[in-house]
Amino acid sequence: MTTGAGIYFDGRTSVRHDVRVTLAPDALRIEDAEGRPLVQWPYAELEELAAPAHLLRLGRRGSAALERLEIADPAFAHEIDLRAHEVDRTGTLQRRQRMRVIAWSLGATASLLAVAWFGVPAIAERLAPLVPPALERKLGEAVDMQVRGMLDTRNAGAAFECRNPAGRAALDKLVKRLETAAGLPSPVRAVVVRRDEPNALALPGGQIYVFGGLIAKADNADEVAGVIAHEIGHVAHRDGTKGVLQGAGLSFLFGMLLGDFVGGGAVVLAAKTVLQSSYSREAESAADAYAAGLMAKAQGDTRALATMLAKIGGATEPGMKILLDHPETNARVAAINRLAVPGPVRPFLDGAEWTALKRICAG
Ligand SMILES: [Zn+2]
Repeated sequence: MTTGAGIYFDGRTSVRHDVRVTLAPDALRIEDAEGRPLVQWPYAELEELAAPAHLLRLGRRGSAALERLEIADPAFAHEIDLRAHEVDRTGTLQRRQRMRVIAWSLGATASLLAVAWFGVPAIAERLAPLVPPALERKLGEAVDMQVRGMLDTRNAGAAFECRNPAGRAALDKLVKRLETAAGLPSPVRAVVVRRDEPNALALPGGQIYVFGGLIAKADNADEVAGVIAHEIGHVAHRDGTKGVLQGAGLSFLFGMLLGDFVGGGAVVLAAKTVLQSSYSREAESAADAYAAGLMAKAQGDTRALATMLAKIGGATEPGMKILLDHPETNARVAAINRLAVPGPVRPFLDGAEWTALKRICAG
């Protein structure tokens, strides 16, 4: 059999053409019902397109128009198969799609096995450095709203953030100097909020909360800068991101892969993790060392963080236990002081600016 019936679509209009298909030695010849030649497709250029099982649907490889030809008669379809090696009626296309689904399933299974084998903390440790800065910022923003709500226990709303203009300007000047010295991929944003504890915390991506209680306890701008430098250390080391990945676990991992953290319980869980869990002693020591290095780079007082820690018992970050005269605090203070190197020192703020920062929550 060398001729058969088919339906041809020219790809430009939706008109179905009932056509006669002739199997010439090197090509398919397609003619309209009146026997006028429409197109000629060399066998080597045929490709099979996805179609229901009873139908052979062909296209022409490299054709700009989305032309297609449908053959319903199985015997005639078989004749075309015999001439066109490129045409594979066993379903290469479907098989390729199925392979992709299998690959994804294997990937998901492998990651589950990896989590079971290494545990979530180790995965978080390995995964956090791979999170792109833009994604980390998005994660920080998603968590931020929850964190702010949880910190603002008196429901002050907009007034929760201290915005005295002169104080704000002084804080911006101080943070800018640290930020320039740090050279992080994302900007650092610090705000002072109305909380009485002498604490500070950093969110993934660079948002830093300094509690009013810390400003109250500080005796100079370098002590505030030292604590903020410690928080920038957590941002640079991605400790917040690791914490969120560990605390909120798999649901968050998958949320991150899908690029969707907003909404759902995962964000609430992540915010609680940020506020309630504490970093390991190693992470704290690393952030202290980072702060000492950053303060030196910014020409600040490298010992100021140690002075501040000694004053507040070593408990920055809300989740940390406040243990006055705890040996761990003494060890941290000693370690920071050991790292302190003599070098040029410029105060972060002048007298008037420091007074303004002290009054940032006033009015
Ligand atoms: Zn810390």
